[in-house]
Amino acid sequence: MSEISFFGHIIDNEEVESIDGKRFDTINPWTREKWGEVAEAGEKDAERAIISARKAFDEGPWPRMGRTERARLIHRLADLMEENADELARLDAMDMGKPITQAKHDVARSVWNFRFFADHQRDHVGEVMPMDSGHHTYTEYGPAGVVAAISPWNFPLMMATWKIAPAIAWGNTCIIKPAEDTPASVNYLGKLAAQVFPPGVLNVLNGFGVPAGSTLTGDWRVDRITFTGESTTGRIIMGAAATHLAPVSLELGGKGANIVFEDAEMDNAIYWAGEAIFRNAGQVCLAGSRLFVHEDIYEEFLERFQARAESMRFGDPLDPATEFSCLASEEHYRKVKSYVDTVEEQGGRILTGGVSDDGSWVVKPTIIVDLPYEATQYCQEIFGPVVVVNKFSSEDEVVHLANDTAYGLNAMLFTENLSRAHRVASRLKAGTVWVNCFFIRDLRTPFGGVGDSGVGREGGNFSREFFTEPKAVVMQIDRG
Ligand code: NAD
Repeated sequence: MSEISFFGHIIDNEEVESIDGKRFDTINPWTREKWGEVAEAGEKDAERAIISARKAFDEGPWPRMGRTERARLIHRLADLMEENADELARLDAMDMGKPITQAKHDVARSVWNFRFFADHQRDHVGEVMPMDSGHHTYTEYGPAGVVAAISPWNFPLMMATWKIAPAIAWGNTCIIKPAEDTPASVNYLGKLAAQVFPPGVLNVLNGFGVPAGSTLTGDWRVDRITFTGESTTGRIIMGAAATHLAPVSLELGGKGANIVFEDAEMDNAIYWAGEAIFRNAGQVCLAGSRLFVHEDIYEEFLERFQARAESMRFGDPLDPATEFSCLASEEHYRKVKSYVDTVEEQGGRILTGGVSDDGSWVVKPTIIVDLPYEATQYCQEIFGPVVVVNKFSSEDEVVHLANDTAYGLNAMLFTENLSRAHRVASRLKAGTVWVNCFFIRDLRTPFGGVGDSGVGREGGNFSREFFTEPKAVVMQIDRG
């Protein structure tokens, strides 16, 4: 048996046990064996993290530091992450079964989260608005205070850094609570950060949604709550935040539409349709889980898409050749399996894929056809490598179908017709629309969703609005 790791909380730059010494196990979903123990926070541990972050904000140097110096320190953390990129990627692969090449990609994007926001806070300091009345007004973006960041398990490092980076860049102090299934990479990040930042700037709190997360979200000393996870959890968190009127940013679930028009460049559309649902075993909020293909190309597309699904290189997450591996936990495997097991009774047909019956937590790349629009697999977020394919005949029809969902995180469309690309992109109810591509992000742009997919936007100046207290200062310039 391999060595068991320990992942403690990081508070005041020290790795610590829970006050009552409680721990829980973390399981490698590929081997299905315990590979680590994690400190399990109770209310008192959350309290300790809040006191530390509060003190660092109210009395420490971080919010008072010059922007250039803060940027320098954040870049230093990014350097350390690059130096330790292999280890960070390995931890995510061990924790959730993410193929190592995809985990490495996540590390690179996580590094970029820090570098981007380090520079952004330095360069986007505010605006001056000269007024006709002989005054001018200028804006100041001061830090908001203590940020509670709560992240999911599907991109453990990337989602956590997407929250931590803007929070601390804008001069706040931050408590990150990673998902209980995937604490390892964020624990490691916390140790790297401890080499660079003053104590209390970044605290890591491990444990379950309740009580670790809920203690943070319900505490009046927390000034901002940024959450990524399920829509049902988002509703609970918004309720908790309302008790002390803390602004929330919620990035929630999705049921992305992927539309392939008859004039699409077929190879490109097939490649991205596969990436959109099989990458990270479909455990992606942005997954293209509802695929609509124009009737003129439906048969050919489906045949080639099936071949793409069946050719995914399956294997050990730590093998660089692996493209597709197990799901992140037994609980999640059972959830996805229940959707797959009931396809036929809901009137659909599995074209390829299905559940492995060898005891592993694997659902193969699965394509469902002939499924009625009322079926749960069509309406609900499965969060696995399972795509429902339907054909359509007109632009109006497919826009209606794509928008007919409670979610609105993202959509993709494939066409070589420029006018149609702009027209349809504009009509889709979604926070992000990708045309002839997928998963490309520019961190200056808004990111977030409509309806059950979330509240608010982050990215660039949208993050600045959320993580600061904007102030207007009005000066009389001309006494007339
Ligand atoms: P989840 O809601 O179960 O858990 C997310 C986090 O919230 C975890 O850290 C969990 O411990 C914590 N939590 C749970 N209950 C809580 C409570 N009452 N108070 C405070 N914290 C609580 O979600 P998950 O299963 O980890 O992640 C999968 C979901 O995340 C999917 O729905 C997916 O679409 C969504 N997601 C969305 C985005 C996005 O950007 N919109 C990105 C990634 C994942």
